[in-house]
Amino acid sequence: MAFNIAIDGPAGAGKSTIAKKAAEALSYLYVDTGAMYRAMALYFLRKGISADDEAAVNAACEEITVSISMEEGEQQVFLNGENVNGLIRTEEVGKMTSATSRYRKVREKLTDLQRSMAQTTDLIMDGRDIGTSVLPGAQVKIYLTASVETRGKRRFLELQEKGVDCSLETICADIAKRDEQDMNREISPLRQAEDAVLIDSSDMTIQEVTEKILELVRERR
Ligand code: C5P
Repeated sequence: MAFNIAIDGPAGAGKSTIAKKAAEALSYLYVDTGAMYRAMALYFLRKGISADDEAAVNAACEEITVSISMEEGEQQVFLNGENVNGLIRTEEVGKMTSATSRYRKVREKLTDLQRSMAQTTDLIMDGRDIGTSVLPGAQVKIYLTASVETRGKRRFLELQEKGVDCSLETICADIAKRDEQDMNREISPLRQAEDAVLIDSSDMTIQEVTEKILELVRERR
């Protein structure tokens, strides 16, 4: 049976950075499920679909195929065969993603794909509902969080490094809005699974968090 590690938590908690590091140390596959939701949101944006129009989103779901592959250790996400990795990290796509990931059709489409990957492959999967809904049987579950201020500051520095003009206040407000949407949606909301280990990374380094996860894996493997 494959060994599965689920990492859930709010936007900007450091899930992907840490999951990538831990996956590398364990030689496991790393699966970023947010990228899959982002690819679908990109399609809705391109089609000019409103995030409030569930019927239009549902209809569009029928036209979409999402798949992933690994290239030089980096996950690549494909939307109807097109590699959209470089197009899905914008704030616009992030907002559309959070607004449309609440729909059942969108979630069902991606959940099946995620489960089938985890059945046969040792992996670390990160997202919002991995421990609670996608892989309830995962051997290690982590709920990784940090204060809104810490997450906002991290994102602000990241964007500044990329030369993107932004304000810390707007970023914190966007993060708080995304948290609110992800935690309060009806289907598979973001929450800590009962058997998940809570890690607050506000005052921890990336290395410290990664070590803690590797320790949990060593205990349970
Ligand atoms: O992790 P990332 O910020 O890329 O996720 C973007 C959005 O995708 C989240 O805000 C959330 O709405 C949605 N998502 C989800 N379930 C997952 C992963 C992401 O609903 N497993």
